[in-house]
Amino acid sequence: MNMNIYNMTFPALEAYFSERGENSAKAKIVYNYIYKKIGALSERVCQMLKADFEFDGVRIIRKNECAEAVKFLFELHDGNTVEAVLMRHDYGNALCVSTQVGCNMGCAFCQSGAAKKVRDLQPFEMVLQLLKAEEELGERINRVTLMGIGEPLDNFNNVMDFIDIIGHRHGLSAAPRHITVSTCGVPKLDELRDISCNIAISLHAPNNEIRSRLMPVNKSYNIEKIMSFTKSRKKKTTLEYIMLDGVNDSDESARELANLVHGVNCYINLIPYNETGLGFARPGAERISSFYSILIQSGIRAVVRKEFGGELKAACGQLRAERAEEKTERMNP
Ligand code: SAH
Repeated sequence: MNMNIYNMTFPALEAYFSERGENSAKAKIVYNYIYKKIGALSERVCQMLKADFEFDGVRIIRKNECAEAVKFLFELHDGNTVEAVLMRHDYGNALCVSTQVGCNMGCAFCQSGAAKKVRDLQPFEMVLQLLKAEEELGERINRVTLMGIGEPLDNFNNVMDFIDIIGHRHGLSAAPRHITVSTCGVPKLDELRDISCNIAISLHAPNNEIRSRLMPVNKSYNIEKIMSFTKSRKKKTTLEYIMLDGVNDSDESARELANLVHGVNCYINLIPYNETGLGFARPGAERISSFYSILIQSGIRAVVRKEFGGELKAACGQLRAERAEEKTERMNP
């Protein structure tokens, strides 16, 4: 199969033209045309590209919509499915994209990890989640978060290419401050110390004992490593903390968390758990509020994440899991 055009970083497209004895400035014309929808391609360039590239490979097969969020299920060229969720914020639209089919991190509370990783997504499959969502909605997406299915840093090179492609000034020009990579914390993270986009780390526990129970990755990248990474950065890092009833939501956990991050350049994003049937529950509103207050009173910057599309099954991997169940039901009526 041909390479997909949306897999091409700008330098790779320049090289493609140079290798064929063409002016590499054509890369700018093509990027402008496919991403900005400006200008036009000559018949000859059009024929060349058609002969050498695929232009599609991702299809929206389901869309669930409510006032503040739209959830998309995409089918890939090989029949695998992934999800993306659009969230409408006051400051614009943000799309949460998937980076892998399934995930190998095996977090106990996460539906995406319940099934193992099937394969990595290629850059074009991430780019097309964005383009298809924009096309379907007829709206511009201003922010991209890599928080869908998959561990972005377990698909490192493709994710870095994706960030390059959507960030290029001749294409979508996504500003680094509008891109967030969310990771559970793998050793590769240390390579991203100086990256200009935002980094969110799934901390989810105030100590290694709780974190190891929830996240197998804690064996290779524990809380000390996360904190030393966070302290070594010039930019502020987001630490995500899922609130799980009776597991990590006590006042004592809040105080331990406050001590852990005291004086560190970060802020805490408290995420009320989206229940998935994996045996974890979301704490009540009072518990969340008490936890939050302890952080704030200790001088820690924290927010409780606004809820988006709970009724849309918006948590990572939920729509995909639902479809897999339906398929099984159809096969075993
Ligand atoms: N693998 C990356 C990115 C994908 S998961 C990471 O771990 O950060 C994105 C975020 O959603 C992570 O913080 C993850 O722990 C969280 N998450 C997974 N399942 C969830 C659920 N059911 N409810 C709320 N957050 C969930």
